Amino acid sequence: MKVAVVLFTRDLRVHDNPALSAASRAAEHVVPLFVHDPALPAGRNRRWFLDESLTDLKESLRRLGADLVELRGDPVHEAVRVAKAVGAEGLGLARDVSGFARDRERRLEQACADERIALKTFPGVTVVPPDAVRPGGGDHYKVFTPYWRAWQGQKPRDVEGAPRRLRLPEKLPKSWFQDRKAHPDAAGGETAARKRLTDWLPHLEVYDQFHDDLAADRTSRLSPYLHFGCLSPRELAARAEGRAGAEPFIRQLCWRDFYHQVLLAFPGLRREKYRAGAEDSWRDEADAFQAWQEGHTGIPIVDAGMRQLRSEGWMHNRARLITASYLTKHLDADWRLGGDHFFDLLLDGDVANNYGNWQWVAGTGNDTRPYRRFNPVRQAERFDPRGDYVRRYVPELADLEGGAVHAPWKLPEARRKQLRYPAPLAMP
Ligand SMILES: Cc1cc2nc3c(=O)[nH]c(=O)nc-3n(C[C@H](O)[C@H](O)[C@H](O)COP(=O)(O)OP(=O)(O)OC[C@H]3O[C@@H](n4cnc5c(N)ncnc54)[C@H](O)[C@@H]3O)c2cc1C
Repeated sequence: MKVAVVLFTRDLRVHDNPALSAASRAAEHVVPLFVHDPALPAGRNRRWFLDESLTDLKESLRRLGADLVELRGDPVHEAVRVAKAVGAEGLGLARDVSGFARDRERRLEQACADERIALKTFPGVTVVPPDAVRPGGGDHYKVFTPYWRAWQGQKPRDVEGAPRRLRLPEKLPKSWFQDRKAHPDAAGGETAARKRLTDWLPHLEVYDQFHDDLAADRTSRLSPYLHFGCLSPRELAARAEGRAGAEPFIRQLCWRDFYHQVLLAFPGLRREKYRAGAEDSWRDEADAFQAWQEGHTGIPIVDAGMRQLRSEGWMHNRARLITASYLTKHLDADWRLGGDHFFDLLLDGDVANNYGNWQWVAGTGNDTRPYRRFNPVRQAERFDPRGDYVRRYVPELADLEGGAVHAPWKLPEARRKQLRYPAPLAMP
């Protein structure tokens, strides 16, 4: 093949990118393309992260001899337009699972067929392709543990390196975007992801011991890189495998795959309750919801989590569980509202993982114990026993020592008044 176009979506990397590798092998000239789609909503945090990731990708592609053509518009229309302009015979992209992505893929299939361009889709968004593991008689796994067993039995595809060299065709469409200068301390992008991975891997050994410790903050923090595909989940699993302490971590990557196969089978995950028969009616109290969003519920561990989200665009997994449970099971508010708020602010905001987890917590999703309700104070005492996580994010309580910080309503009234901290909206 003379020319192929690679349409990047959320696989913003050159290492272990099956679509890019295949194009580099099959075609003499490769056109890497990214199309900013105005129809795809992204919160402000994900916008800057995407920007940094694209800048980094462009630099990596230039080092390999190519470049990144960046356009704006409907990706289907733009990809076919570019393919025709450069005389491409083939177009490759990573398969994805959301309703939005699958609709884009279907439209691309049709448009490519009309123009006699060969469209090829590739794995890479998950460790194991979401349609590769199926239970007998069903289209997807509804419960995690049997999925985990079947997932572990899969023969994984080989991890691919970055292409050695890429060659652009002579005539290239002009990028819609001006060149941005890469910032050496940029948090987004493949370079930062690979550095983070290398720095963090030695901590894998103690992952099981510390991954629920809120104050220690010792999880990988790789989720935004996985979301944008700056890091290949398959390569991440391969680099973890065989190391001491790998299994509990790889199990988390399997949870990610699990929700991806749920979303593939149930595209309504973001709005419709997943479990037929689940109770799905909620109280609509705007003031309580706003207090939760702003971290003023009067439950310190909930407020700490919500303020971490607001200030960092990220929240520790244990805090996500506690804050989501408090919203749905104590304040009785709709999981969709909470899910949308998270989705808006999270750097790793992801339809499959976000709404899959929200439905799990709310009892409308994949939890086999849907009536489970976390007691936030007991959770705090267990996972933030010294109160350091709360003091880090709730400065009003910084003077309270040790675990006393988790229940300020138990303090003598005079002391409580000095704190300027609200009474609980709902008791634990
Ligand atoms: C209410 C709620 C909402 C969530 N929303 C998102 C979201 O929008 N995007 C997102 O990536 N994760 C989401 N999670 C899952 C989890 O909280 C984050 O993936 C994790 O905190 C990211 O931190 P880390 O990279 O340090 O994780 P680590 O503990 O280092 O785990 C490694 C990777 O495993 C995956 N993973 C870990 N836990 C889960 C899980 N419970 N479900 C699915 N994948 C998991 C992530 O890709 C993560 O990066 C949500 C969890 C809850 C309870």
